[in-house]
Amino acid sequence: MTRHFDIIVIGASLAGSAAAIILAKSGAKVALIDKANFPRSKPCGEGLSALSLQALTELGALEAVTALPHVPLRGFEVHRRGRNYQLLLKSNQKVGMGVARYLLDQTLHGLALASPEVSCFEGFSVREVISNTTSMLVRADSGDQSEQLFSAPYLILADGGRSPISRQLGIPVSAKPINRYGYRLLLTGQPKRSIEAVQVFVRGDHEVYCTPVGEGRINLALLGSKRAVSEMANSNYRAQIVGWIAEELGIEGVQFNEGQAIGPVTRLSRNSVWGRTFLVGDAAESFDPLGGMGMTHALYSGIAAGEALTGILLKQETMQAGAHRYVAERERIARTLRTFTSLTYRAFRNREGGILLSLLARGKSFAVLERTLQIVFRRARQTTFSKRISSNATPGPTPSISARLKGAWLRVV
Ligand SMILES: Cc1cc2nc3c(=O)[nH]c(=O)nc-3n(C[C@H](O)[C@H](O)[C@H](O)COP(=O)(O)OP(=O)(O)OC[C@H]3O[C@@H](n4cnc5c(N)ncnc54)[C@H](O)[C@@H]3O)c2cc1C
Repeated sequence: MTRHFDIIVIGASLAGSAAAIILAKSGAKVALIDKANFPRSKPCGEGLSALSLQALTELGALEAVTALPHVPLRGFEVHRRGRNYQLLLKSNQKVGMGVARYLLDQTLHGLALASPEVSCFEGFSVREVISNTTSMLVRADSGDQSEQLFSAPYLILADGGRSPISRQLGIPVSAKPINRYGYRLLLTGQPKRSIEAVQVFVRGDHEVYCTPVGEGRINLALLGSKRAVSEMANSNYRAQIVGWIAEELGIEGVQFNEGQAIGPVTRLSRNSVWGRTFLVGDAAESFDPLGGMGMTHALYSGIAAGEALTGILLKQETMQAGAHRYVAERERIARTLRTFTSLTYRAFRNREGGILLSLLARGKSFAVLERTLQIVFRRARQTTFSKRISSNATPGPTPSISARLKGAWLRVV
């Protein structure tokens, strides 16, 4: 038996759930499918930017997220070559928060499911998508391995950076291997001082990010060379690193779990729209995690795709116009995030990083940068929104991947 919907969303993490929440508001019937059962773990630095908090507000999800155990964050404290740089807002204003991913994802997923328009299929692994001229047919295996069929005129692909489904659909990908790997583990213990910022320790060929996530827990993510990550697989070395971090942060009675290796981390980009398929989150573009912008992109691209498809389903605009609008808006969003990631990369990893960090740590520089980022970002959203209301222009062709990549991450390294 085939179940029919207005939209099928594959992947119910941040990007997929954000899109489902927006679509459900207009009464669209959504199938939200994920191979995992929530709550589930997702390796991440667990730092939500201020822009992500803005996105959660747009989704009506901020209250639910702030009710979770979390730590408000005022920026970054960077430890590099024996110096300490505080990139903080000077007032008590918070710029983001540290929150456990398994709780965050479960909360957003729960909000999507709270709508009667959204049907949830947890533990359903999609193994094939067939694209017809007027509809998309999805084959998934449920927990008992029985085949389930879904059909809808449109598909949202939110299955993460590797996105096996996009490969199966033949969506071209432009990937830049950055030879970076990750390792993530969780510390518990009582820090002597309160930690109000993400602690970044820049070392030879890697960085260590420590993000407090509430209830005495600190998420430790190491990003760097294959060598640095494979050393973390050795329990003695891991204990050494944790001991050293505990000393730096003054954590007493530290305990830690085994953690897991991640990677290689690849920065990649795909066409945001392919036929009747809209790609969101990491499936559309993934960033170097060092800038902490992946979740912001996941949430905002989910919102933008949800809005564009709402317009198409309500017949406010043609499929072609809606698709073009989504491609343009996602690109605007991603451009700001790429710029921030590029700046962060230079500050942490490049030779001139010390100068950049000194400038950012001076006076109100970081606060001004943060504010500028917010204004540029908000303007990008508003411009597209006002155009959406007034425009009945015929869309141009979808920009090619190479055009979108030009001057983007290739600048970063
Ligand atoms: C080491 C590391 C640290 C990071 N730190 C940060 C940070 O501090 N801040 C930040 O903002 N970002 C960070 N990121 C990036 C962030 O984790 C991602 O950008 C974000 O999770 C992308 O969300 P998404 O919804 O696009 O995809 P994902 O969160 O990857 O979710 C994809 C979903 O699709 C499901 N799925 C996949 N295939 C199928 C299938 N065939 N059938 C059904 N379901 C399927 C999966 O189960 C999963 O739930 C980090 C990333 C890494 C690797």
